[in-house]
Amino acid sequence: MGKKAICEECGKTITSKNDLVTTTALLKLTTYCKDCYVERIKSFSSLFVSNTPLNGKYSNVMSVIVLIALIPIMFIQDPLKYLLIILVAVYLLYRLASYLLYERHLD
Ligand SMILES: [Zn+2]
Repeated sequence: MGKKAICEECGKTITSKNDLVTTTALLKLTTYCKDCYVERIKSFSSLFVSNTPLNGKYSNVMSVIVLIALIPIMFIQDPLKYLLIILVAVYLLYRLASYLLYERHLD
């Protein structure tokens, strides 16, 4: 068993994938239940909490797009490409961590 997904805000244990929202808050992988996530991104703390959930369909599509986008970036003759590659790698690592730590343990 992996980590239990517990809402950072209300402390509730999240038992369903549909109720789970993983995101990054101050670079830390954070889990919320759906209700708290919606409340939180509407509030002031959206400055610190990413507005894009890491899990869900949108994120899976993004991961594929990002991976495809990485191919041409590899051929760019510019040192800036390393910055892009790092950003992409960080995004994908968060995505992977979200899946491995939480999503695969839920129905
Ligand atoms: Zn909650």
